[in-house]
Amino acid sequence: PTDPARRTADLLERRDAVFATVQEHYYAEPPRIERGWRHHLLSTDGRSYLDIVNNVTPLGHAHPRVEQAVTRQLRRLNTNSRFHYAAVVEFTERLAALLPEPLDTVFLVNSGSEAVDLGLRLAVGASGRPDVVAVREAYHGWTYASDAVSTSLQDNPNALATRPGWVHTVDSPNPYRGRHRGVDAARYAAEAVAVIDGLAAAGQPAGAFVSETFYGNAGGVALPDGYLDQVYAAVRRHGGLAVADEVQAGYGRLGHWFWGFEQQRVVPDIVCVAKAMGNGHPLGAVITTREIADRYREQGYFFSSTGGSPVSSVVGLTVLDALRDEDLQGNAVRVGGHLKERLRALADRHRVVGAVHGSGLYLGLELVRDRATLEPATEETAELCDLMLDLGVVVQPTGDHLNILKIKPPLCIDTVAADFFADTLDLALTQLGHAG
Ligand code: PMP
Repeated sequence: PTDPARRTADLLERRDAVFATVQEHYYAEPPRIERGWRHHLLSTDGRSYLDIVNNVTPLGHAHPRVEQAVTRQLRRLNTNSRFHYAAVVEFTERLAALLPEPLDTVFLVNSGSEAVDLGLRLAVGASGRPDVVAVREAYHGWTYASDAVSTSLQDNPNALATRPGWVHTVDSPNPYRGRHRGVDAARYAAEAVAVIDGLAAAGQPAGAFVSETFYGNAGGVALPDGYLDQVYAAVRRHGGLAVADEVQAGYGRLGHWFWGFEQQRVVPDIVCVAKAMGNGHPLGAVITTREIADRYREQGYFFSSTGGSPVSSVVGLTVLDALRDEDLQGNAVRVGGHLKERLRALADRHRVVGAVHGSGLYLGLELVRDRATLEPATEETAELCDLMLDLGVVVQPTGDHLNILKIKPPLCIDTVAADFFADTLDLALTQLGHAG
């Protein structure tokens, strides 16, 4: 068909016919997005949208420096990563230098799921203990091991009932909405420690504790103070290792901290990274100690054909250069701080705004029907996202109740765009009748 709207609908039908049904897309009638520039997305019917969701592109869309570096490298060489070339050495050195001692040894992979999977295998291999403790309501990936430790209900409503026997879960340490809200957030750590001690007492000590370092599924909520310190100490006391999932939280998005674990003042044994590393190109990494990496040699095998390929390494280096040269972590502090203030002010005008979570440009706006009971405003959030699209903003819900707007735009977003987002939200909430 020549009509662009018809062509978009046809393409969607073809997509639905050939894609596995578990792979969903945003919106019932999504715009067809074929171009992006910085924090903007452009549809084929000529509209421009502000992109509030793309944490895989911290530098923004179509970054010229990445484009030029990739093109140059593709013209020269892209190959299986067993060959010897400089880019992979430089990239691995740069990554290792971003982590504190004793984390000095890097594995390069292609995604967050692979990174968490390998992180768990390293922990289980090095500790010699197959049991793993994970936090409920978290998402860590789709591979066998990363899926096993993922229990967010939005991704799998049967998550808890379908865990393999080696996975043990602890309560989700959500200070805003969890069981101990308003009581004592320190109880989450005490309870997690009790689970870890209980496993050891039962002769099944955990080989690993895995969690995000800043709580993503709940909309970017900081873990209770001291949580990771206590839980890491407990798992280590029984011979296990601390695995940090920095796939969403890491790489400067939090603004004040490059890594989420810095906010908790801990150093994990194994750090899993992805998303932002490649600005959309598939890149992931696991960084650990030489000792843990060496012990894995006796337990398992690692080789990734394209992990750390010449092109991937050049992308990784270019992203790190641009993050530094454009001071995007600083931008996350400045624009993120301003945006958080603007969003907080919306709570005075709209009762449905229950809380604004997060740090830097990793924010969550939680919508509730009642500020005392915290009844989630799930349908309202879906309605709001549809209206926001009409008004030119791509924003999506997260959380087990899908009542939190996840706010994780490209880190290059400026104050003008942040104000546009806040003004548009204000307008949409008013239109939906949630003012006052
Ligand atoms: N861990 C976290 C915290 C994530 O948010 C994600 C992706 N949403 C993953 C792991 C998996 O990463 P990927 O989609 O790159 O496999």
